Amino acid sequence: MKISVIGAGPVGSITALKGFENHDITLHEEHKTQPIQCAGLISKSGLGRLGVPLKKSIIKNEIQGAVIVSPAGNSFRIDGKGAKAYVIDRREFDHYLLDTAIDCNVNFINKRVKSLGDIKADRIVLATGTDYYLHRKLNLDIPKRFLIGAQYEMNLECDNNFVELHFNTPDFFSWIIPVGDYVRIGSCASRNPVPHLENFLKKLKKDGRIKNPKILNRNFGVIPIYDPNLRTDYGKIITVGDAAGQVKASTGGGIIMGGISAKHACHPDYERRWRSEIGRELSLHLMINRFLSRLSSKKTDKLFSLIKEHKWILEEKGDMDIASQALSGLFKNPRFTLKFLWQLPGYAFDML
Ligand SMILES: Cc1cc2nc3c(=O)[nH]c(=O)nc-3n(C[C@H](O)[C@H](O)[C@H](O)COP(=O)(O)OP(=O)(O)OC[C@H]3O[C@@H](n4cnc5c(N)ncnc54)[C@H](O)[C@@H]3O)c2cc1C
Repeated sequence: MKISVIGAGPVGSITALKGFENHDITLHEEHKTQPIQCAGLISKSGLGRLGVPLKKSIIKNEIQGAVIVSPAGNSFRIDGKGAKAYVIDRREFDHYLLDTAIDCNVNFINKRVKSLGDIKADRIVLATGTDYYLHRKLNLDIPKRFLIGAQYEMNLECDNNFVELHFNTPDFFSWIIPVGDYVRIGSCASRNPVPHLENFLKKLKKDGRIKNPKILNRNFGVIPIYDPNLRTDYGKIITVGDAAGQVKASTGGGIIMGGISAKHACHPDYERRWRSEIGRELSLHLMINRFLSRLSSKKTDKLFSLIKEHKWILEEKGDMDIASQALSGLFKNPRFTLKFLWQLPGYAFDML
């Protein structure tokens, strides 16, 4: 089959890498250097599922767990006791995947695609990230809800093997991701996240964690919220990755889910295949996101202190991508379930 892939972010390049052996693939990318808006955190298990070998230099740090900080500032640590995730250099990752695809004889055209009129292909894969220009032109489904992320790179005191998630924004959270000699610190919200990030920085400064306030790098980006009803297969044209909203709504992570979908992008049964592999998990992440965004700060504090009591379940069963593992672990525990229903009456049904 002749396949044109539009967009050489990770998802477009993985599509090409998974399809080049059986198909004649052309990859279109408008930029010389792909734009980066990412914290670069990916699970080790997810990377294994993608089956793309990585160069060692792309991995900047290994993460073994997370510190969760509730709205009132109470914290607890989930320790996976060993490397569970990697912090990657996104720019190098994207370049590496694209270069590997080119080395595999994938044709590369370094130009923006403005219309599909000139493209002679049996299948066109839109891997255009959150640039929905072609979707609009072709009247394809576009995600309806988005989060906006703001992220700075700077120096800050933290434990180098733990990410921090601070639930201090109304609809999402702020993060600190140690990269090695610096951190990525960011906030996400459904509207302008910059005031939340600035407030967070003020608090960290007050706590004495920022010795050098210099911001080394700033980036801003949009995260689509998964919508299970979004159509992704239009016969000759399919959408994949952020272009199809295949992002975990509870964390904003899209590399692994988009990459897993990309494995199926050259298959005639694309939509059924990606949904059967990750559709349920994406829906569970959406449910968690909805549930948390409906809880007041007080209720979120209550929920987190309950999770803290049972954090061993997450330490044993938790996986950044597979939400069902953590949820079933928690809800199979009768003590957790009883306390959950007792402390958060009525909210349980909101999750459905
Ligand atoms: C602040 C922030 C932090 C994030 N942190 C994480 C994280 O820690 N972990 C994680 O897994 N995910 C994270 N994400 C999400 C992640 O960045 C995306 O899910 C991922 O980039 C999606 O890959 P993609 O290939 O679908 O799209 P993209 O990476 O956006 O690539 C799309 C490519 O298509 C090209 N393109 C678009 N239109 C055209 C056109 N018409 N012609 C030619 N080329 C075109 C663009 O130039 C671009 O290179 C984060 C997002 C944000 C905003």
